[in-house]
Amino acid sequence: MITANKHFRDAFGHKMYKASISLDVTCPNRDGSKGVGGCIFCSEGGSGEFAAQRSDPVSKQIEDAVDQVKGKAGKDAGYIAYFQSFTNTYCSSNYLENALTEASECEGIEAVSVATRPDCLGPEIMDVLERQAKRMPLYVELGLQTGNDNTARIINRCYETKEYPEAVAALKDIGANVITHIIFGLPGETKDIMMDTVKMCRDSGSDGYKFTCLYVLKNTPLEKLYYDNKVEILEMEEYFDIVEEAIRILPESAVIHRFTGDGPKKSLIAPLWTMNKRQVINYINRRFGL
Ligand code: SF4
Repeated sequence: MITANKHFRDAFGHKMYKASISLDVTCPNRDGSKGVGGCIFCSEGGSGEFAAQRSDPVSKQIEDAVDQVKGKAGKDAGYIAYFQSFTNTYCSSNYLENALTEASECEGIEAVSVATRPDCLGPEIMDVLERQAKRMPLYVELGLQTGNDNTARIINRCYETKEYPEAVAALKDIGANVITHIIFGLPGETKDIMMDTVKMCRDSGSDGYKFTCLYVLKNTPLEKLYYDNKVEILEMEEYFDIVEEAIRILPESAVIHRFTGDGPKKSLIAPLWTMNKRQVINYINRRFGL
């Protein structure tokens, strides 16, 4: 297992920081093309609570994000333009290309990361991504969450798991580095089902992983399920036991970009252990020898 910090230092020669960007996009399971309401755990911000003002130009969003971390980052740090909220390839290829070009031309940007879904990578979008991968390192984050189609239906993901390995192969073909998002603790999932997801990602050739425990946010469909006692929320030790098992399954070269997420404090209902960020970080460092 390789940590994200080590991976970025090896690849870029210094520490890398992310400058989050919000585009004017949505998701096919929100706007009615494949479904409505989005994934049942996802907030109105589309997994981008900490991202920037989407009405600002990309360059301004990057400038603001860099300004915020410049003090602690120091002058040797590099930046990744991180297209974080919603499905960033669910738009016209022109819109995406202009956004990527604008980001790549910003001072300090050395790589681009695009969060999306395997079902939003049509031929024209792939051409844009291929051109971007030739310009600078490109990371593509795929929101898989689970490899189990039954769970995928429960969470309203609205694409079939078989699209994932095809997307990973196509992205690797154009030289992108693929990061897969997986959630542990989804409704009805046993540890075996979760490990099957991890194995499927490993066998598909995902380069990196972002793990998170399922967390319940206010005003999401999951909130109702939670109050109806239809979802079990993992305790901290229980969750990290699962992460440890997942890491055991993955090759040594797998980059772990995130050991767990932390929901926005103002709308987090459970699990409350994720609120204590410092304690969680210390626990991760101790447990995984970081
Ligand atoms: S695809 Fe991603 S951003 Fe869209 S609803 Fe699902 S989790 Fe949220």
